[in-house]
This record gives sequence, C-alpha cells and structure tokens, in this order.
Amino acid sequence: MKGQGSRAPAVTLLGLQEFVVLAAAELAGEVELLIETTETVTGCPRCGVIAEPHGRRPVSVRDLPIAGRPTVLVWSKRLWRCNEPLCQQRTWSERSKEIRPRSILTERARRWAMLRVGAHAETVAGVARQLGVGWHTVMRAVRDYGQPLVEDPNRLAAVSGLGVDEHVWAHAGPRRRTGFATGIVDLTPGRAPRLLDVVPGRSGNAYSGWLKRQSQMWRDGIRLAALDPFRGYATALSTTLPDAVRVLDAFHVVKLGNDMVDQVRRRVQQEQLGHRGHKHDPLYAVRRLLRRGRENLSRHAMARIEAALEAGDPDWEVTIAWCCAQQLREVYHAPTEEEGRRRAQVALATLHSCPIPEVARLGRTLRAWRPEFLAYFDTAGASNGPTEAINLLIEKHRRDAHGFRNFANYRLRLLLACGLNWHSERTARIRTRRPRIVA
Ligand SMILES: [Zn+2]
Repeated sequence: MKGQGSRAPAVTLLGLQEFVVLAAAELAGEVELLIETTETVTGCPRCGVIAEPHGRRPVSVRDLPIAGRPTVLVWSKRLWRCNEPLCQQRTWSERSKEIRPRSILTERARRWAMLRVGAHAETVAGVARQLGVGWHTVMRAVRDYGQPLVEDPNRLAAVSGLGVDEHVWAHAGPRRRTGFATGIVDLTPGRAPRLLDVVPGRSGNAYSGWLKRQSQMWRDGIRLAALDPFRGYATALSTTLPDAVRVLDAFHVVKLGNDMVDQVRRRVQQEQLGHRGHKHDPLYAVRRLLRRGRENLSRHAMARIEAALEAGDPDWEVTIAWCCAQQLREVYHAPTEEEGRRRAQVALATLHSCPIPEVARLGRTLRAWRPEFLAYFDTAGASNGPTEAINLLIEKHRRDAHGFRNFANYRLRLLLACGLNWHSERTARIRTRRPRIVA
C-alpha cells in the first residue's frame, strides 16, 4: 500500500484526495495550480452506460493560502457525453464535493474561514484578505458552516446554572439609536462559562421571552439563576423559573459598590469646586484607581489615592464610601464561605444606616435583596468570574469587528467565539523528532 509520502510531492501538498496537480505558477503574488481529477472512466448518471470524454473546461476557485500566498486552483473540469441513443442525458461535467458548482472558494477553505473567524476570533475582513476574496464570501462561509454549530440543540444540554447581563451591541449613530442586547450565560457549576444566547433588547421581557422558548424540561433543570438586581430580570425569573435559587451576581454587586463611589466622588467634587471633574482635579484624576480592588493597588497607586483624598475630600465622604465599596468587594474574596457570609451580614447590618446618602441607598438595596445576596454562599460555584469574563470577551469581539450592523451576524459571531468549546489539536513538535521522510 502506498502512503501519503509516496505520491507526487505536489499532490501531497495539495491534499485534495481526488485531484492531481499538473502545473504550478506564481502570478502577481498569488499561487496558481492547474489541477484535474484522476477519474478516467465513468458511467452515465441516467442510464449507466460508459460515458465518452467530451473535452474540458477550466474552472477557477480560490483555496487555502499556500505558504502565505492567496491560492487559485484552476480545475480543468472534464465534460462527459452519453452515447446511448435512447438516453435523454446528453453531456454533463464532473463534480466534486470539495469544489461546488459556481463556488468562489473550495469547501475546505470555507470551513477554514469559519474556524479562523469562529474559534480564533479573526475578523471577517482579515480572513477575506488572506484568501483573496470579498467580505461577503467569507461571511457566507461563516454562516453556512457556523450556523449549524450554534443551532445544535446539544449546545444547551445539561445546563443547571444561568446568568444574564445586558450590553450595548451597536452604538447610536446619525440614523439609529443605541442597540442593547441581553446575553444569557451558562453558569453550570464545574464547567467553563459559555454564552448560551444573545437576544436583542434589555428588559425582563427579552430574558423571559428567551426562557419561554426553551422546553419545560430544560427550564426544570435550572437550579441556580444569577441576576443583576437592578433590571427587570427578577420578575422574568420568578415567572419562568420559579424553582431556581436566585443569586445576586457578585460581579454586579461589586460594580454597584464602585458606581456608588463614583456618585459620591462626583457630588463632593461639585460641592468643592463648583464644577464637574477636570483632568487636574485631585479626585477626578484617581477615579479609575478608586474602582480597583485594594489588593491590586501598588504602593504608588495607594499613595496617589491618599493624596487625592487629602486634597479633595475634606469631610471624608469619598474615603468612607470607598472603604464601604472595598468592604463589599471583600465579601467575595473571603478565604472561606463562612467568612464570606459573615462579611455579607456585616454589610447588610451597617451600610443602610450610614450618614452618606449614596452609601445608605446601596445598603437599602442590598437589604431588599437579602436572600439573593446571601444565597451566594449556599450555592458553591456561583462565582464572581464568569459573567465578567464573558462580558470582557463580548466587548473584545465587538471592538475587533468595528461594530456590527446586523444582529443576526452579531449573534452568530458571538456564539461562535464565546458559546462553543473548540477543541484545538496540537501539532507535534518538530525539533524533538527525526524527519520521517528520510527514514
Ligand atoms: Zn445515458
């Protein structure tokens, strides 16, 4: 039996089973390969009588880049004729699964394009450039090969934890309003978080509409539902997932604390200076540092915060607000669940009676959500990271694609990038083995 290596080098390089390479040329930075099939005998598709060759016709199609250069395959396509007098079939041309009629790209190039965009997060425009084709050709390939992966019902199988968050998917422009989308995240304990779906809109209705489209059996499997308390999601959950344990999403609680510090800072700034923050105002200059966790601050950063507070916060309001936000943050960084619960209880018992109105409001909000706030410590694995991690991924993809105009494309791209587990096979390392070709 002949192995791959004993075929003509050009055939091995081409790697298309039924084809041989007749000639290769480089033209204007592109590789052009003349190929034909190895088939020499065929039967008429209608009557089965052996067909007679009827000449050839060249067909050009783009393929995977070869050594970094866009590549064109020129397939000298054979025409056949049936000579059986009683047969209706006159002539036909040969076919290949890899090169579909009138296709711009080979099927393997289309699969590759989908993988580059889907699994490797390359832009459609970038992949189009590598292949030497247009944006729409690549997007069509991404749709044709990616849509079935995304719509596969098995993707939603065995989900027991859900998270939800909204984000902006299209910024407002002269002709349209800001487009919001709601992302639904798989928070099943013990596995990597994934994006399950994205729906347009940002309300409880968007979320409950999606939940209602799932089967009753699927909904019954959801044990835990994380939520951002400040949207209509709670209602969506109580009507569609009444039996799931509702948990305040740690990410949103921490964010709420940071937003509160921002509010206090802006008010104090206004009171002190009579205007909104400017670049050189002490508190404004450290506004980003104030959002960070204390344990992530360098000594230098800490000194900057202290100096700013000293200069711009005479009544210690920002200082106290900042400490409260840090305290809230540390609820989720406790060494044990027990200690976390204790810290949460302290926050519930103290924040609402703080004389700083913004802190007190935050305290009241937390008290209104006490069971959901504390449920975090009963549901091991409802961790802080997932929703935030997915949010960062979403943001990255939106930036890379310079914004989207079409929601269906946006959803497909996001689900390919954040909603699937791509298994990437590693190639063997070449330095540690002997070349097999010369053995
Ligand atoms: Zn025939």
